[in-house]
Amino acid sequence: MTKYIFILGGVVSSLGKGIASASIGCLLKSRGYSVRMRKLDPYLNVDPGTMSPYQHGEVFVTHDGAETDLDLGHYERFADLNCHKTDSVSGGRIYYNVLQKERRGDYLGATVQMIPHVSNEIKTFISSDLHNEDFVLYEVGGTVGDIEATLFLEAIRQFRNEVGKENVLIVFLTLLPYIESAGEMKTKPTQHAVKTLLQVGIQPDILLCRTQKMISEDERRKIALFCNVNKESVISALSVDNIYKIPLTYHQQGLDTQVLKHFNMLESSPEPDLSKWEEIVKISSAYEKTVEIAVVGKYCGLQDAYKSLGEALTHAGIANHAKVKVTWMDASQLEPMSDEDVANTLKPFAGILVPGGFGDRGIEGKIRAVQYARENNVPYFGICLGMQMAVIEACRHLVGIKDAGSAEFEKPCTPVISKMRVWEKDGVKCIRPDNGDLGGTMRLGAYPCVIQEGSLAHRIYGQTDIEERHRHRYEMDISYAPQLEEKGVVLSGKSPDGLLPEIIEIPEHPFFIGVQFHPEFTSRPGRPNPIFKAFIEAAIKKDILL
Ligand code: GLN
Repeated sequence: MTKYIFILGGVVSSLGKGIASASIGCLLKSRGYSVRMRKLDPYLNVDPGTMSPYQHGEVFVTHDGAETDLDLGHYERFADLNCHKTDSVSGGRIYYNVLQKERRGDYLGATVQMIPHVSNEIKTFISSDLHNEDFVLYEVGGTVGDIEATLFLEAIRQFRNEVGKENVLIVFLTLLPYIESAGEMKTKPTQHAVKTLLQVGIQPDILLCRTQKMISEDERRKIALFCNVNKESVISALSVDNIYKIPLTYHQQGLDTQVLKHFNMLESSPEPDLSKWEEIVKISSAYEKTVEIAVVGKYCGLQDAYKSLGEALTHAGIANHAKVKVTWMDASQLEPMSDEDVANTLKPFAGILVPGGFGDRGIEGKIRAVQYARENNVPYFGICLGMQMAVIEACRHLVGIKDAGSAEFEKPCTPVISKMRVWEKDGVKCIRPDNGDLGGTMRLGAYPCVIQEGSLAHRIYGQTDIEERHRHRYEMDISYAPQLEEKGVVLSGKSPDGLLPEIIEIPEHPFFIGVQFHPEFTSRPGRPNPIFKAFIEAAIKKDILL
């Protein structure tokens, strides 16, 4: 019988519930269990596709093409699994479904109410599309006490009664603030948060307490007494300097033991194999060298906007035994600079990466970064918009189309990047509707790409048939390919029908590659994405040559 684990948060937000959930998934997976991970986000947006990365961090794209919350990226990376479209839902989506059903007359004229209609819709999501997994984990976004979360908690309460308490575990992530002047760790906020949870009928089984210091036995006993859990289930979630230590520290604190004990599975459980994580922590705690990379992008004020990208660079660094020091650079700052100043700004870096993005801001700065990398033999890696910038730069400065640009931007131009109208997904032709709304008109999810033999991409991937995840509306206009190839820019990867350019490279350059997809979404600790690994390797080589 499948066991259900709900992870809720209390006291304050930003306690790292996503990584905590992902680490529980990781520990169960490391014992050989099948694990599914899901996110319930109470906010009213129907999906995160149109949410600003400034506010909400990156939009993570699943293999099957869902635009989801960045926490699904943590799940994929820590528990080494692929999430699905059906693994995330928002309050907005739940209400949207209920209202659509009401309009269709599905409720047969009944008065539509929060309970049972909305709560039932949430329960339907909780038990939908499951395939006999050993464990299904559900992280609930927000903090207990939020108005939006109320219905979700009610649904969880009902669900627990329906499937039996022995099949459900509630993990509650809280904070134990340390008051310097008193030299004491305070348990009161946690006690209050548990009370708030009890008011909606949910008793937590495990308290995962974020702390600066280990919780003493006395404090554990006190928390256990006031919060009605056993002492062993009060777990210290210590703040660590390296997120890859989290699964290991949770294991040392006995978190997986308590989870399995709750389900009466401890005796029969295999021991966890955490050797991969031990190796990762060993390397990342004592790097042999440092490599400096400039990421020239747009949302540089908030690192969560490039979460998977940062992680993929770190994975690639670990594979190369190098600390990747990333400078997140706002592309627009390069725009007013003289050529000399651009060169001076970019000189300290062994590699330049232009990431994905939307909209006009900083575009000319990104193009200047590409030009600098191309002309100065600095390893360049362009992702999605970063590939489009490389195409525009080459069209302008190598082919001589002075006003080359993208149809996405407002400035009049000769569009060498334009909107895809027709593409194929799983053998089915997709046609973009005229005036389609912003959500839902993108090429999303994994698509196959055929790589040209003997190319850099071929050497990187070691095969000609690959699959990577996409999220974009625009595409290089393939009719410019002959002119570009004549100037040494090769189209080394295309969609299987040969219509969509997926990878460009410059064979004469030490390392210059642009990809229309987002390889950062498939990178995992211990299994970096091949392009990231090769990019860091090239940057290290460049550093040695300097
Ligand atoms: N804005 C570009 C497009 O829609 C690139 C998107 C991206 O970088 N993810 O095609």
